[in-house]
Formats: sequence, structure tokens, C-alpha cells
Amino acid sequence: MLVKGVVFCLESGLPSEARFLLKDFRLAVNNAVRAGLQARVTSRNAMVRIAYKDFREDHPKMYAKHLVSAFEVAGSVLKNHRRRVRKGVACRIPYVKRLIMKAENQAYKLDRRSGIIDLPIRAGCHVELKLVVSQYHRKFLDDTTLSLGSLTVLPDRVIVTFRKDAPRQYTPESVLSLDTNERSLDGLFVGGDVAKAVKAEFPDVATIQLRHHDRRKRLQKKKVHDRRTSRNLCRREGTREHKRIEYRLHQVANSVLKFAEERKSAIVLEGLKGMRPKRSKELNRRLSMWPGRKLHQIIEYKAQWKGIPVVKVDPRNSSRTCPICGRIQDSRMGAEFKCDCGWHLDRHINASMNLLQTAISNGMAGGLRFNPGAFQHDVMMILYDPATGARSEPNGTSGICEVT
Ligand SMILES: [Zn+2]
Repeated sequence: MLVKGVVFCLESGLPSEARFLLKDFRLAVNNAVRAGLQARVTSRNAMVRIAYKDFREDHPKMYAKHLVSAFEVAGSVLKNHRRRVRKGVACRIPYVKRLIMKAENQAYKLDRRSGIIDLPIRAGCHVELKLVVSQYHRKFLDDTTLSLGSLTVLPDRVIVTFRKDAPRQYTPESVLSLDTNERSLDGLFVGGDVAKAVKAEFPDVATIQLRHHDRRKRLQKKKVHDRRTSRNLCRREGTREHKRIEYRLHQVANSVLKFAEERKSAIVLEGLKGMRPKRSKELNRRLSMWPGRKLHQIIEYKAQWKGIPVVKVDPRNSSRTCPICGRIQDSRMGAEFKCDCGWHLDRHINASMNLLQTAISNGMAGGLRFNPGAFQHDVMMILYDPATGARSEPNGTSGICEVT
């Protein structure tokens, strides 16, 4: 079962009854957290057993299903807490500050045509939440294969989850193999007898990260005597950075998936598990900010939703191996991969060729074959061009991307 949360804004704010409900819900969650800690339980059912009666008395008017879902939210808070404690991270007893409430799908009604949510508050009292519905939202509301999941209510917006069974993956007729780099996805498209180099660039992402990093550093220095302001300003910077990057990664993922879907390709990516910390602080910072894993998550998740097969392979030595003779080179290499046997190719594309060969030899590419000799050196297909896709950085710094 696949789940997707879709954010809706409210047409006329949150009614005051609903705001009371959010406050009541938060109180119930925090009480449940304390009860759960005391009894050392985290599952919803266990908490219902030990605490439901008392809660019913404390919140006499609250709709019973909301009360149960408060236990569930408390359960997930407690599970996170327990994980942190086990890891040995110092932490206080968890306390939910944000106004938030969650309702299971039986506990609310959504009219999918008009976009009106009917939310029960207590016996005989319901509120209507009118959602702002755009074309994007229509896609989900009108799709009858999607069923409704839980509802999350926040003071300024609501999140409705849609569910569907995972669609069947198609049988691939071609392969798109991608090597993930700091500023681009580079790779190979193999279909029929042709193999072409492909590229999807996101130079903006690194630029944005660097700029926000510098700005945070400056802020911290400037506000060194005012920790609270410093923290707030840095948090705002962080949120903005996150949104801007997320937007660009989604654009890249969308164009890659569109390309693959049109050609019925399987997508080959490198599995990115243990990235060992390096010695240099600067390099560590760059590695931890590297959005490759996030990009993979987005691609994999969207591919699942569309039924596009994605294959992950072990990237070990993929950037150092010669795809023709199999020799493994020293790790230091320029922009071009060169082998003693005479093979030479762009370093990143060479890596993706190795990923593809690993996928084929493990039988993960659906019986497709690949002959490196069929590779057309002179053709490059652009999967995503930041100049025409996402907004570029206004002051032109996005021009500093390496052109291979
Ligand atoms: Zn070689």
C-alpha cells in the first residue's frame, strides 16, 4: 500500500471550535505521553487499555475516535523518544508544543467534489473545513483508485493522505543508468542497439546550500549575544533552504521519471549506504549536505507510485573500473576516465556504465544486454535543464557549473 500526503490550505482559516479541539487534542497527547512513560508502553492498544478510562473522564466531550488517535500520536512520540534514549542521546521528557491533531479515516468525512471536510468535534457538534482546491489537488480528489487515509489538522493547513495499491511495474524495454554527483545525475540510456549519454543538472542546489550555510554562519557571529534571536533566524534560514532545495530536486526527479516512463525504462541507481566520514571538516560538511540520498528517495518513491522499476546496485569501485577490460584503476582521476587498454570516457558516465553492467550481470535489468561498443560518444541527451525548468538563482551564480 502506497501513501501520499497532500497539503491543502483552508479557505477561511480554522473555525474556533476546531482550534479548541486542537488544544484539547494536544493536552490529551501530552497526558498520554506521560501515562505511557510511566507504564513503559508505546503501542496504541496498550495505552488504550491502561489510560482510556481516565482520559474519558478528563476529556468528557471529545469524540472517542479522536481520543484513540491521540494515543497513537503519543505512541509515535514515545517511540522516537525511546530510540533517542537507546542511542544515548541526552533528551528531556517529550512534550508536544505544536498545535496538531490527527484523525483516522473513519473519524472525518471529505466530500471529494466540493472539497469540504466534515470534522466531528463532540456529540452533536461538527465543523466544516473548506479546502482550497487547485488543479494539483484535483488530480488526487478525482482519482477514484485512491482511497482516503488519515487527516492531519494544523492551525493554518490540513494534510490529507491518499492511499493506493502499488501499481504493477512494467517490463522494461530499455535502461536508464544514473550516477549521482554533487551537481548532476550523469548516466547512460540504453535502448535497442543504441546507448547515449544523459545528464540532469542541478547546479543551483549546491549554490543554495553554500549561500545559506554562509548566511547562517554570519548570523551566528552577529547575534552571538542573543541566542534566542540567533536560533530563530537560523531556523528560518534552514526552512527556506530546505524548501528551495526540495523544489529543485522534485523537478529533477520528475523529468527523469517522465523520460523513463515514456521509454519504458528501468532506472539503475547506486545504493548509497555507508558513507564513511572523511578526515576533513570541510569535506564532511559537503558530504552531509549532499542531496543525493534525498534525490534517490524522491525518485524511488515517485517511481513506485507510477510503477517504474528501480534497481539499486552496489557502487563499489564503479568510478574506478574499466567497463571493457575490467581493470581497476587508482582512485585519483581527472574528469576523464582513462584505461591502459585504450578506453576513455567521461568519469561520471563511465561510472554509470559500470553500474549498468553490475545490474545486468546480477540479472536485475530484465534480460537487457549492453555492448559498450554501441555507445555513441558524441550524443548527449539532457534530461533536465535548470535554465528551462526550475527558477535559476537571480544573480547569475548558477552559471558556475562544470560543463563536461
Ligand atoms: Zn580497460
